[in-house]
Amino acid sequence: MTLKTGKVYLVGSGPGDPDLLTVKARRLIDNAEVVVYDQLPGKAILDLIPKTAEKIDAGKYAGNHTLTQDEINAVIVQKAKEGKNVLRLKGGDPYVFGRGGEEAEELIKAGLSFEVVPGITSAVAVPAYAGIPITHRESNSMVTFITGHEDPTKDETGLDWELLAKFNGTLVIFMGVKMLERNCGELLKYGMNPKTPVALIERGTRPDQRVTIGTLDNIARLAVERDVKAPALTVIGNVVNLHDILGEQIVR
Ligand code: SAH
Repeated sequence: MTLKTGKVYLVGSGPGDPDLLTVKARRLIDNAEVVVYDQLPGKAILDLIPKTAEKIDAGKYAGNHTLTQDEINAVIVQKAKEGKNVLRLKGGDPYVFGRGGEEAEELIKAGLSFEVVPGITSAVAVPAYAGIPITHRESNSMVTFITGHEDPTKDETGLDWELLAKFNGTLVIFMGVKMLERNCGELLKYGMNPKTPVALIERGTRPDQRVTIGTLDNIARLAVERDVKAPALTVIGNVVNLHDILGEQIVR
């Protein structure tokens, strides 16, 4: 008798406030058999995983090392081949800078059936809770999402900083804390206005959310002074000024 393989659900958890989980994500969490997760969804969401589910922390499984992407893929495939339904829980939306696309490709290669469950990406929700609409008719009518921390093994940068410096819309930078000084330096070098407003939002939509407001020429210094840590989102553009008017949404 051949064992029926399980199905894999690539699920976005949203930015951290459990109330921002989709109905479908919540239903899948409540009924989960195996959950493969990392820390990005945050404690409040990880605490919702039922005790009966097998929990696999991709951050420290098999000893104490962080699983490589290959190892994460292998675990997901192995569990599904054992006949279990696997919930791969990822922060925000699985296909926005989450390597979800790569995981999905591996599942296809392994002949498994999978379903993607989009989540609310931090790119939209985190600025929203910080009082910053990422577009605004008066000021910014375009948005670009970029990664601030590119794969260090890549020789060439995929980011065209010269083009980005001229971009007359909102720039949202993921994973940008470590490289903030370099990235702001690149934008300044190619002529972006040094007084362009910038917001750094740590742990957005969570009770310990913290917003730091500055300008392109001082935000890197402010980040060091305030010891800004990941996960944090950087928002660059005039929409940041709306923070003063709209105010922060307090999370409990
Ligand atoms: N797939 C995720 C992004 C994964 S990359 C999404 O759609 O949101 C990880 C980066 O996302 C972090 O380094 C940070 O820049 C951003 N991020 C995710 N959740 C966040 C949060 N609650 N607050 C601030 N930044 C967050």
